[in-house]
Amino acid sequence: MRETIERFLARDAGEREFQQAVREVLESVEPFLARLPQAVAEGLLARIVEPERVISFRVPWVDDRGRTCVNRGFLVEMNNALGPFKGGLRFHPSVTQSILKFLAFQQVFKNALTGLPLGGGAGGADFDPKGKSDAEVMRFCTSFMRELYRHVGSRVDIPGGDIGVGAREIGFLFGAYRRMANRFEGALTGKGLAWGGSLFRAEAAGYGCVYFASELLAAHGLGLEGQVCLVSGSGNVAQHTAEKLIQAGARVVTLSDSSGHIYDRDGIDEEKLAFVKHLKNVRRGRIHEYAEKYRSAVFVPVDPAGDHNPLWAHRADCAFPCATENEIGEQDAYRLINHPVKLVCEAANMPCTPEAVQLFTGKNVLFAPGKAANAGGVAVSGLELVQNSMRLSWAGEEIDARLRLLMKGIHRTCLEAAESYGSPGELLRGANLAAFEKVARAMLDQGVV
Ligand code: NDP
Repeated sequence: MRETIERFLARDAGEREFQQAVREVLESVEPFLARLPQAVAEGLLARIVEPERVISFRVPWVDDRGRTCVNRGFLVEMNNALGPFKGGLRFHPSVTQSILKFLAFQQVFKNALTGLPLGGGAGGADFDPKGKSDAEVMRFCTSFMRELYRHVGSRVDIPGGDIGVGAREIGFLFGAYRRMANRFEGALTGKGLAWGGSLFRAEAAGYGCVYFASELLAAHGLGLEGQVCLVSGSGNVAQHTAEKLIQAGARVVTLSDSSGHIYDRDGIDEEKLAFVKHLKNVRRGRIHEYAEKYRSAVFVPVDPAGDHNPLWAHRADCAFPCATENEIGEQDAYRLINHPVKLVCEAANMPCTPEAVQLFTGKNVLFAPGKAANAGGVAVSGLELVQNSMRLSWAGEEIDARLRLLMKGIHRTCLEAAESYGSPGELLRGANLAAFEKVARAMLDQGVV
């Protein structure tokens, strides 16, 4: 089977992130594939690593100085065997087809773990909303939707937010969709509360992560209270991970953005977090301003020549990478293991390199894989879709309670799958096996299509 996997990977030779995500899943699911006849297994693999379709398009827009700018937009529709395509939209200069294929591939299995009838996809553009005016962001979103509206819809493909796509961008995208499609329907998630959004959607990925981490710690007789936690990022997922950690009695000491990180020796409390939310969500400022306001904190700029990220060098009990892919490499993993950390919880998508993951699992660090731990975001998006189709809205407590139960259920599903395939306690393998088996069985039931 290894040779088959390598043969498929060779077809996407330049797509490093996509290959990384595919390799991680396929290497975990060999025990399931071994139970299928060889030809069936090969046919299944050939289809599962190939997106249903990839759309690449031009996004022209005019900036505030009247200059024409052109960005590259993508929509990757990976697999809809379980339901309509669903994933995030990312606006960031680093966006490539490989990154969106990795996100879409991972989303297929994440969505399967939630038990919701959703397939997986992703989309985005190499557009940087940082430093742009609201009017520029709106013109970009309108132009982006000029292509996207043909492909999205509540029964076809339902994108939500990811890096660089928050409440402001979803608002502009939805407004453009509504006019172009001449339909008001749940074609996007993360909408405003007054126009079809769900309570707790913004909080869901971060809160869900902390619920998952609590389950994992509790299964080993531990809790979050008093634990020193490193959190990276300062966007949607980081803010809500930090918020729930603070509520659970943990001591969060770091946050970051792409310019560097802050370390607060006194810990970040609710008041300081409110400052971060205003700084990032309203003023759209940079994280160094935190250290200018709070004297207990220092700002450490990114060292482009460094072989590690100094954020992970601060002593801590738990690490929650909430920024971006491959932000914890081998050198960072060694430092975390030496603290020693008890838990690494992937709140971002694929934030740990394969070398780092191998070190954590080999050294008995409790490791929560992203496709399980950060599934809370898509889970509440699923609830938003149900509310849209039923034209109702649930109370916040009800959604939070459902989210808690769902994260508990995902943790149990991963453990049971790991156990039944002879790898007790290996959550990453369990997550991949449980999700892959579900998608694979649906594809096999539905024939070669
Ligand atoms: P945001 O755009 O809200 O925040 C991203 C944060 O990460 C910012 O602080 C940003 O800093 C930082 N960041 C982004 N790229 C880099 C980089 N290359 N190097 C250093 N820092 C970087 O995004 P989200 O919080 O929504 O997403 C964060 C992660 O969580 C991503 O991996 C995403 O795929 C994942 N995720 C998101 C979900 C959601 O619902 N939004 C759900 C599940 C997972 P700066 O502002 O300087 O760019």
